[in-house]
Amino acid sequence: MKIIMLGAPGAGKGTQAEMIAEKYDLPHISTGDIFRANIKAGTELGNKAKAYMDKGQLVPDSLTIDLVMDRLSQPDCDGGYILDGFPRTIPQAVSLTKALRDRGETLDYAINVHVPDERIVSRMSGRRACSGCGQTYHMVFAPPKTEGICNKCGSELFLRDDDKPETVKKRLAVYHNQTQPLIEYYGKQRILRTVDGTKDMEDVFQDITNILGA
Ligand code: ADP
Ligand code: AMP
Repeated sequence: MKIIMLGAPGAGKGTQAEMIAEKYDLPHISTGDIFRANIKAGTELGNKAKAYMDKGQLVPDSLTIDLVMDRLSQPDCDGGYILDGFPRTIPQAVSLTKALRDRGETLDYAINVHVPDERIVSRMSGRRACSGCGQTYHMVFAPPKTEGICNKCGSELFLRDDDKPETVKKRLAVYHNQTQPLIEYYGKQRILRTVDGTKDMEDVFQDITNILGA
Protein backbone atom coordinates (compact mmCIF):
# COMPACT_ATOMS: atom_id res chain seq x y z
CA MET A 1 0.00 0.00 0.00
CA LYS A 2 1.33 3.45 -0.95
CA ILE A 3 -0.07 6.33 1.07
CA ILE A 4 0.66 10.04 1.32
CA MET A 5 -0.41 12.27 4.22
CA LEU A 6 -1.76 15.75 3.50
CA GLY A 7 -2.64 18.48 5.98
CA ALA A 8 -1.44 21.71 7.53
CA PRO A 9 1.68 21.73 9.70
CA GLY A 10 0.62 20.37 13.09
CA ALA A 11 -2.53 18.66 11.78
CA GLY A 12 -1.27 15.31 13.07
CA LYS A 13 0.24 13.80 9.91
CA GLY A 14 3.32 12.46 11.69
CA THR A 15 1.30 11.11 14.62
CA GLN A 16 -1.06 9.22 12.32
CA ALA A 17 1.69 8.13 9.91
CA GLU A 18 3.56 6.48 12.77
CA MET A 19 0.44 4.57 13.85
CA ILE A 20 -0.33 3.54 10.24
CA ALA A 21 3.28 2.42 9.70
CA GLU A 22 3.10 0.19 12.76
CA LYS A 23 -0.30 -1.35 12.01
CA TYR A 24 0.31 -1.97 8.31
CA ASP A 25 4.06 -2.62 8.61
CA LEU A 26 5.09 0.10 6.16
CA PRO A 27 8.19 2.33 6.21
CA HIS A 28 7.33 5.83 7.48
CA ILE A 29 9.16 8.38 5.36
CA SER A 30 9.04 11.92 6.74
CA THR A 31 10.91 14.57 4.74
CA GLY A 32 10.94 16.82 7.81
CA ASP A 33 12.68 14.04 9.78
CA ILE A 34 15.18 13.49 6.94
CA PHE A 35 16.04 17.21 6.87
CA ARG A 36 16.32 17.38 10.69
CA ALA A 37 18.63 14.33 10.70
CA ASN A 38 20.81 16.05 8.10
CA ILE A 39 20.88 19.26 10.17
CA LYS A 40 21.92 17.28 13.24
CA ALA A 41 24.66 15.50 11.27
CA GLY A 42 25.87 18.84 9.84
CA THR A 43 25.65 17.71 6.19
CA GLU A 44 25.66 20.17 3.28
CA LEU A 45 22.00 19.33 2.60
CA GLY A 46 21.19 19.96 6.27
CA ASN A 47 22.90 23.37 6.25
CA LYS A 48 21.03 24.40 3.11
CA ALA A 49 17.65 23.09 4.36
CA LYS A 50 18.00 24.76 7.78
CA ALA A 51 18.08 28.25 6.28
CA TYR A 52 14.61 27.70 4.78
CA MET A 53 13.12 25.70 7.66
CA ASP A 54 14.06 28.32 10.28
CA LYS A 55 12.16 30.94 8.29
CA GLY A 56 9.07 28.74 7.96
CA GLN A 57 9.65 28.36 4.22
CA LEU A 58 9.71 25.19 2.15
CA VAL A 59 13.05 23.68 1.18
CA PRO A 60 13.35 24.16 -2.62
CA ASP A 61 11.99 21.40 -4.87
CA SER A 62 15.48 21.05 -6.39
CA LEU A 63 16.81 19.78 -3.03
CA THR A 64 13.73 17.77 -2.07
CA ILE A 65 12.47 15.79 -5.06
CA ASP A 66 15.61 13.75 -5.86
CA LEU A 67 16.11 13.02 -2.18
CA VAL A 68 12.65 11.46 -1.90
CA MET A 69 12.84 9.61 -5.22
CA ASP A 70 16.13 8.08 -4.10
CA ARG A 71 14.58 7.03 -0.78
CA LEU A 72 11.56 5.45 -2.52
CA SER A 73 13.86 3.33 -4.68
CA GLN A 74 15.34 1.60 -1.59
CA PRO A 75 14.32 -2.07 -1.23
CA ASP A 76 12.29 -1.51 1.97
CA CYS A 77 9.83 0.55 -0.10
CA ASP A 78 9.09 -2.31 -2.51
CA GLY A 79 6.02 -3.36 -0.51
CA GLY A 80 4.70 0.20 -0.13
CA TYR A 81 5.29 3.13 2.20
CA ILE A 82 3.72 6.04 3.97
CA LEU A 83 4.98 9.46 2.89
CA ASP A 84 4.60 12.17 5.54
CA GLY A 85 5.32 15.77 4.50
CA PHE A 86 5.87 15.00 0.81
CA PRO A 87 4.60 16.13 -1.64
CA ARG A 88 4.13 19.71 -0.48
CA THR A 89 4.06 21.48 -3.86
CA ILE A 90 2.47 20.75 -7.22
CA PRO A 91 5.89 20.14 -8.89
CA GLN A 92 6.68 17.58 -6.13
CA ALA A 93 3.34 15.85 -6.71
CA VAL A 94 3.83 15.79 -10.47
CA SER A 95 7.33 14.31 -10.05
CA LEU A 96 5.96 11.62 -7.78
CA THR A 97 3.13 10.77 -10.19
CA LYS A 98 5.64 10.53 -13.06
CA ALA A 99 8.14 8.41 -11.11
CA LEU A 100 5.38 6.01 -10.10
CA ARG A 101 3.97 5.88 -13.61
CA ASP A 102 7.44 4.97 -14.98
CA ARG A 103 7.37 1.95 -12.69
CA GLY A 104 3.77 1.08 -13.58
CA GLU A 105 2.61 2.03 -10.08
CA THR A 106 0.08 4.41 -8.54
CA LEU A 107 -0.62 5.78 -5.08
CA ASP A 108 -3.45 4.09 -3.20
CA TYR A 109 -4.54 6.88 -0.84
CA ALA A 110 -3.92 10.56 -0.11
CA ILE A 111 -5.14 10.98 3.48
CA ASN A 112 -5.95 14.63 4.22
CA VAL A 113 -5.97 15.36 7.96
CA HIS A 114 -8.12 18.47 8.26
CA VAL A 115 -7.63 20.88 11.18
CA PRO A 116 -8.72 24.55 11.01
CA ASP A 117 -5.97 27.20 11.35
CA GLU A 118 -7.18 28.49 14.72
CA ARG A 119 -6.40 25.12 16.34
CA ILE A 120 -2.97 24.79 14.75
CA VAL A 121 -1.03 27.45 16.66
CA SER A 122 -1.95 26.05 20.09
CA ARG A 123 -1.17 22.50 18.94
CA MET A 124 2.26 23.50 17.69
CA SER A 125 3.22 25.49 20.77
CA GLY A 126 2.54 22.35 22.86
CA ARG A 127 4.49 20.02 20.56
CA ARG A 128 7.80 18.75 21.92
CA ALA A 129 10.36 16.76 19.96
CA CYS A 130 12.98 14.39 21.33
CA SER A 131 16.56 15.58 20.81
CA GLY A 132 17.70 11.94 20.59
CA CYS A 133 15.24 9.93 18.48
CA GLY A 134 12.87 12.61 17.13
CA GLN A 135 9.74 11.15 18.78
CA THR A 136 6.93 13.73 19.01
CA TYR A 137 4.93 14.56 22.17
CA HIS A 138 2.35 17.15 23.16
CA MET A 139 2.42 18.77 26.59
CA VAL A 140 -1.38 18.41 26.96
CA PHE A 141 -2.57 15.79 24.44
CA ALA A 142 0.35 13.31 24.44
CA PRO A 143 2.63 14.07 27.42
CA PRO A 144 5.73 11.97 28.19
CA LYS A 145 5.74 9.88 31.40
CA THR A 146 8.40 12.14 32.92
CA GLU A 147 8.17 15.84 32.09
CA GLY A 148 10.72 16.92 29.49
CA ILE A 149 12.14 13.40 28.95
CA CYS A 150 11.54 11.00 26.03
CA ASN A 151 9.75 7.75 26.98
CA LYS A 152 11.62 5.83 24.30
CA CYS A 153 15.27 6.91 24.64
CA GLY A 154 15.49 9.12 27.76
CA SER A 155 16.83 12.18 25.91
CA GLU A 156 15.60 15.72 26.56
CA LEU A 157 12.57 17.13 24.76
CA PHE A 158 12.64 20.55 23.11
CA LEU A 159 10.37 23.03 21.31
CA ARG A 160 11.27 23.07 17.61
CA ASP A 161 12.41 26.54 16.44
CA ASP A 162 9.88 26.40 13.63
CA ASP A 163 7.03 25.64 16.11
CA LYS A 164 7.27 29.10 17.69
CA PRO A 165 4.01 31.03 17.02
CA GLU A 166 5.49 33.64 14.64
CA THR A 167 7.02 30.90 12.44
CA VAL A 168 3.89 28.74 12.62
CA LYS A 169 1.84 31.62 11.17
CA LYS A 170 4.29 31.85 8.24
CA ARG A 171 4.17 28.08 7.75
CA LEU A 172 0.38 28.18 7.64
CA ALA A 173 0.49 30.85 4.92
CA VAL A 174 2.99 28.72 2.97
CA TYR A 175 0.69 25.71 3.43
CA HIS A 176 -2.33 27.54 2.01
CA ASN A 177 -0.38 28.94 -0.95
CA GLN A 178 1.74 25.96 -1.95
CA THR A 179 0.39 22.75 -0.42
CA GLN A 180 -3.39 23.14 -0.25
CA PRO A 181 -3.69 22.94 -4.09
CA LEU A 182 -2.68 19.27 -3.73
CA ILE A 183 -6.11 18.55 -2.25
CA GLU A 184 -7.65 19.30 -5.64
CA TYR A 185 -4.82 17.48 -7.46
CA TYR A 186 -5.43 14.22 -5.56
CA GLY A 187 -9.19 14.77 -5.60
CA LYS A 188 -9.00 14.59 -9.39
CA GLN A 189 -6.97 11.36 -9.12
CA ARG A 190 -9.87 10.04 -6.96
CA ILE A 191 -7.60 8.88 -4.14
CA LEU A 192 -8.26 11.75 -1.70
CA ARG A 193 -9.83 10.84 1.64
CA THR A 194 -10.36 13.60 4.22
CA VAL A 195 -10.55 12.89 7.96
CA ASP A 196 -11.46 15.23 10.81
CA GLY A 197 -8.12 15.88 12.55
CA THR A 198 -9.71 17.76 15.46
CA LYS A 199 -10.85 14.46 17.02
CA ASP A 200 -8.74 12.58 19.58
CA MET A 201 -5.71 10.84 18.05
CA GLU A 202 -7.20 7.36 18.49
CA ASP A 203 -10.48 8.44 16.87
CA VAL A 204 -8.67 9.96 13.91
CA PHE A 205 -6.73 6.70 13.58
CA GLN A 206 -9.96 4.70 13.68
CA ASP A 207 -11.36 6.83 10.83
CA ILE A 208 -8.17 6.20 8.84
CA THR A 209 -8.22 2.44 9.41
CA ASN A 210 -11.86 2.42 8.27
CA ILE A 211 -10.58 3.87 4.99
CA LEU A 212 -7.49 1.65 4.62
CA GLY A 213 -9.19 -1.56 5.74
CA ALA A 214 -8.27 -4.00 8.51
P1 ADP B 1 2.32 17.17 11.71
O1 ADP B 1 3.15 15.94 11.43
O2 ADP B 1 1.10 17.25 10.83
O3 ADP B 1 3.12 18.45 11.68
P2 ADP B 1 2.17 16.13 14.44
O4 ADP B 1 1.73 14.70 14.22
O5 ADP B 1 3.58 16.34 14.84
O6 ADP B 1 1.75 17.04 13.18
O7 ADP B 1 1.17 16.75 15.56
C1 ADP B 1 1.36 18.09 16.01
C2 ADP B 1 1.18 18.14 17.54
O8 ADP B 1 -0.18 17.89 17.87
C3 ADP B 1 2.01 17.08 18.27
O9 ADP B 1 2.45 17.63 19.51
C4 ADP B 1 1.02 15.93 18.51
O10 ADP B 1 1.34 15.19 19.68
C5 ADP B 1 -0.30 16.67 18.65
N1 ADP B 1 -1.44 15.96 18.06
C6 ADP B 1 -1.45 15.15 16.95
N2 ADP B 1 -2.69 14.68 16.70
C7 ADP B 1 -3.50 15.22 17.66
C8 ADP B 1 -4.91 15.12 17.97
N3 ADP B 1 -5.75 14.38 17.22
N4 ADP B 1 -5.38 15.82 19.04
C9 ADP B 1 -4.54 16.58 19.79
N5 ADP B 1 -3.23 16.71 19.57
C10 ADP B 1 -2.70 16.04 18.53
P1 AMP C 1 7.63 18.86 8.97
O1 AMP C 1 8.49 18.09 9.92
O2 AMP C 1 6.92 17.98 7.97
O3 AMP C 1 6.71 19.82 9.67
O4 AMP C 1 8.65 19.74 8.09
C1 AMP C 1 9.45 20.73 8.69
C2 AMP C 1 10.02 21.66 7.61
O5 AMP C 1 10.86 20.90 6.70
C3 AMP C 1 8.99 22.35 6.71
O6 AMP C 1 8.45 23.52 7.29
C4 AMP C 1 9.85 22.65 5.47
O7 AMP C 1 10.71 23.77 5.68
C5 AMP C 1 10.73 21.41 5.38
N1 AMP C 1 10.10 20.37 4.53
C6 AMP C 1 9.64 19.15 4.94
N2 AMP C 1 9.13 18.48 3.89
C7 AMP C 1 9.25 19.28 2.81
C8 AMP C 1 8.90 19.17 1.43
N3 AMP C 1 8.28 18.08 0.94
N4 AMP C 1 9.17 20.21 0.61
C9 AMP C 1 9.79 21.30 1.07
N5 AMP C 1 10.14 21.50 2.34
C10 AMP C 1 9.88 20.49 3.22
